[in-house]
Amino acid sequence: MNALCHDHLNDEIERLFAQIKELERIYQQLSRQAQALIEQMTHHDALVKLPSSFLQQCFHQIERMDMEHLLKKAIDQNEFVLHYQPKLNIQTGQIDGAEALIRWRRENHLLFPDSFIPNAEETGLIIQIGEWVIREACRQCKEWHEAGLHHLSVSVNLSPIQFEQQDLEEVIIDALAQTGLSPGSLELELTEGMVMKQPDNAALVLKKLQDLGIKISIDDFGKGFSSLSYLIVFPINTLKIDKFFIMNLEKDDANAAITSAVISLAHHLNLQVVAEGVETEEQLHFLSDHSCDFAQGYLISKPVEPHAITTLSHKFNRSY
Ligand code: C2E
Ligand code: MG
Ligand code: MG
Repeated sequence: MNALCHDHLNDEIERLFAQIKELERIYQQLSRQAQALIEQMTHHDALVKLPSSFLQQCFHQIERMDMEHLLKKAIDQNEFVLHYQPKLNIQTGQIDGAEALIRWRRENHLLFPDSFIPNAEETGLIIQIGEWVIREACRQCKEWHEAGLHHLSVSVNLSPIQFEQQDLEEVIIDALAQTGLSPGSLELELTEGMVMKQPDNAALVLKKLQDLGIKISIDDFGKGFSSLSYLIVFPINTLKIDKFFIMNLEKDDANAAITSAVISLAHHLNLQVVAEGVETEEQLHFLSDHSCDFAQGYLISKPVEPHAITTLSHKFNRSY
């Protein structure tokens, strides 16, 4: 390419970048103006004959557009990070695995999933974000293995939209192939609602994933669906008892009864049990006395950066 042509291309790229920046500025200005206008209109509702549901819709639309725009930028600029919460094997006292929990590093703030995952699901961006989570979690787990922590597994939370996505299996196969992680070290966390929405399809997808050697876990167990028959029909490995029951273990006998019944039910079905939200020694003792397999919660550790999992694993493994 001659120098003249090269300069021309550079100029063209710079001009396009400037245009994008200008469009971004205009978009943000318009969105702020529209928001201010709607706020004014709501304050003077006597003058405005627009139904409040319409105004709410407008608000929602603007928020959605704003968020979509920011989420797209966050994907492009690698603003997402994964923190990991360790899973304690109650019987051996070792850290056996960790759950990947997404955070958004945005302008010196760390945003938690509840503040952006619903929007990512609504806009469909969760597919892209979810793919990144799967790849990054596999890569990180392989790194732990290479550092000598071969027994660690990693769990990834799936969104219902990802679960309905046609090529989930390919995405996972690809992530495992690219990172070299063995399928047995990967666990997927789904909720009861996700598998019960389209049970026939769910059974097929789960069977394919299990055939690959991947483990399936039901998150927030006890919070959603009342039918238990799916536990027999679907290839599930683990139940995670919802933290509500664990956090209220000491408050009333009903939560203790449900927790011990779930542990017993799971073991009869050859499933393992994780208790989430363990915050006190008393809760851990109760779980140990009732032969619960794993515990997760602030008592063991809050979700931490990946390097801290290495330190925690060594610390727990030494103390037993
Ligand atoms: P989850 O999968 O049930 O994760 C457990 C949540 O409980 C986490 O909140 C964790 O920080 C919190 N937690 C753990 N131990 C304790 C405890 O002892 N006490 C209390 N009070 N809380 C505890 P977090 O990280 O804010 O995640 C919230 C939810 O967001 C997750 O619930 C999961 O459903 C979703 N999520 C997180 N990461 C991802 C992701 O990568 N993809 C998708 N689709 N969803 C995600
Ligand atoms: Mg989870
Ligand atoms: Mg949970």
